[in-house]
Amino acid sequence: MNPPCARCGKIVYPTEKVSCLDKVAVIIPFRNRYEHLTHWLHYVQPVLMRQQLDYGVYVINQDGDGAFNRAKLMNIGFVEALKEYDYNCFVFSDVDLVPIDDRNLYRCSDHPRHLSVAVDKFNFILPYATIFGGVSALSEQQFLKVNGFSNTFWGWGGEDDDMSQRISYRRMFISRPDSVTGRYKMIQHKRDSHNDPNPRRGQKLTETYFNIIKDGLSTLSYTVREIRKDLLYTLVTVDVQVPAG
Ligand code: UDP
Ligand code: MN
Repeated sequence: MNPPCARCGKIVYPTEKVSCLDKVAVIIPFRNRYEHLTHWLHYVQPVLMRQQLDYGVYVINQDGDGAFNRAKLMNIGFVEALKEYDYNCFVFSDVDLVPIDDRNLYRCSDHPRHLSVAVDKFNFILPYATIFGGVSALSEQQFLKVNGFSNTFWGWGGEDDDMSQRISYRRMFISRPDSVTGRYKMIQHKRDSHNDPNPRRGQKLTETYFNIIKDGLSTLSYTVREIRKDLLYTLVTVDVQVPAG
């Protein structure tokens, strides 16, 4: 007899690639991309269904037009999803990324997993070894171990590399599907307004090591403005408390 899965208690058979049914919350950081969301729901939900997941989709919508904060929205998604159900795996996905291969499982593994390995925008090549942006999956334990994402990356860029460093500083690795299974299409778009590249991102990445404990889930502060239940997803509109100036 094989030992039961540590996460769900199910007996795992040797032929099964993935040990047991994860309870997956898919978290989408969002503002003003309804067209992409429609596409995402149309193309990605059937994939998730074919993967036979026990899943829920949470679109975390930043209220107002202050600087966008993708990472903080994902922390909020983690907290809000857990208020609803006993999720044990969190897939963080940009709204514009559609997986091409059904075998790219939206599940967690023994190490934090980067799923968007081969995106058409990058000619289906992994741009650099430590990349963790786009679509990624962390178990509840893995996410807690790194204190979630930083809350302090305002504007575009850096927050995903900060998470990559958190993972490595907490002695975990990045797991990935192969470059065929990990293929994605990114819906083409221009850079959104109020999401300009963050000029402080390079400097901030030198500070990750010292900030893991003092910037993350443990210091997360926000206000929920509205929770709307759609048939296919939950839309949580939040005030992320954009700093003045
Ligand atoms: N995003 C959004 N509204 C914005 C800015 C960003 O919904 O105004 C979300 C959306 O999920 C998007 C993700 O943040 O896919 C990352 O932003 P973007 O697509 O601009 O990054 P890039 O294409 O450079 O990876
Ligand atoms: Mn994009």
